[in-house]
Amino acid sequence: MNEKETRGPDGAENMAAEVMEEAAESAKEDFKEPKGKKQMPLAGQIFIALVLAIIAGLLMQSHAHFAVTYIQPFGTIFLNLIKFIVVPIVLFSIMAGVVSMSDIKKVGAIGGTSIVYYLITTACATTIGLALANVFDGFYPVLSTSGLKFDKPESVSAMDTIVNIFPNNFITPMSEANMLKVIVMALIIGFAIILVGEKAAPAVKGINVCNDIFMKAMEMILKLSPVGVFCLLCPVVAENGPKIIGSLGMVLLTAYICYVIHAVVVYSLTVRAIGGMSPFKFFKGMLPAMLFAFSSASSVGTLPLNMECCEKLGASKEVTSFVLPLGATINMDGTAIYQGVCSIFIASCYGIHLTPSQMVTIVLTATLASIGTAGVPGAGMVMLAMVLQSVGLPVAGIALVAGVDRIFDMGRTTLNITGDASCAIIVSHLQDRKSKRAAKKAAAQSGN
Ligand code: ASP
Repeated sequence: MNEKETRGPDGAENMAAEVMEEAAESAKEDFKEPKGKKQMPLAGQIFIALVLAIIAGLLMQSHAHFAVTYIQPFGTIFLNLIKFIVVPIVLFSIMAGVVSMSDIKKVGAIGGTSIVYYLITTACATTIGLALANVFDGFYPVLSTSGLKFDKPESVSAMDTIVNIFPNNFITPMSEANMLKVIVMALIIGFAIILVGEKAAPAVKGINVCNDIFMKAMEMILKLSPVGVFCLLCPVVAENGPKIIGSLGMVLLTAYICYVIHAVVVYSLTVRAIGGMSPFKFFKGMLPAMLFAFSSASSVGTLPLNMECCEKLGASKEVTSFVLPLGATINMDGTAIYQGVCSIFIASCYGIHLTPSQMVTIVLTATLASIGTAGVPGAGMVMLAMVLQSVGLPVAGIALVAGVDRIFDMGRTTLNITGDASCAIIVSHLQDRKSKRAAKKAAAQSGN
């Protein structure tokens, strides 16, 4: 038997890995800034845009209509471009991630670890949200709840939610940007490529090339982010002003304190203890993506930048390209906090006191609701209806917080993407350790 025959599908796997490595190297070369041309880093540009947007928004409060009519559309164009690139990015990056691992078991291990981490941290987030909202309960204003109206979204049963994850058509999930379905498609095709083996090597190459092309397109779109951020944020500030922030300030403050506590306590701890990285380094490296998430209020839109930040922090491409798109779709710690805090706030406005068992129900439903929340602006507010319904709270209460939803959203999205990144750092570190241990064992065995 010749060597090729004995290698079987492993031959293709190795080849796939080589092709992947080559493509990654060439992509890295391409992404390098031309020498001699010093440009302010994107994070700095985004930060300046953020500050300018707040100043301009405050100055334009009496001309909010102008800001909404003429400035916001440019922000919408930017968001549209991001939405356009997100489906191919998720599809190809997950496929490339799966084939690069060339081992279905490894994909399962990484996916399993990520999902467990995501669920646990989300449950922690809701618990923090509920605990703090209860502490602040006495400070919430008693608002008038008569005449509130909110169009209830159609409720979907838990079984339907599971059925809806699986695509029944190749094109629709992509045209509707249904990310869970796109992820399932990418996994099935990725696994099939691994199983086909050597014959699928051209497909591996094709997927990597497509991945590089879409990454390049994304890089071009991201260069517009300072303008996009300005145009998205300025109208929000002009419309809401300090007035509305003041009236709902307490509940906003509660949510923001929870966001910060969750990031500082939970992520710092996990990143340090399981990921082996200093939390300071982690948050510093994540700053560009966090600023972007804050201004765009979209986890999916922040995905490309999040990948870049995590890779710069040392996470492997293989892990980021799989764990981050998954997280942007199912992991929403900020959204879970928001849902917990708002449930208590709305209950308190209606003079309702929740029982401990109702609180447990909120933790469970908010965890599930956050999985079903799309990573786009405002999606978490729609899912809040499901949480309120689960404990019999009036859905119309959402109208109380709807006016300031964008402000909640900016913070919760920032937390959402930071949670995804912490998972990528941790999983990458665990994978690293595992392969080092395996290499050591192999070396010891060959020494014997
Ligand atoms: N805007 C959030 C996100 O993209 C989702 C939400 O509305 O909670 O992560």
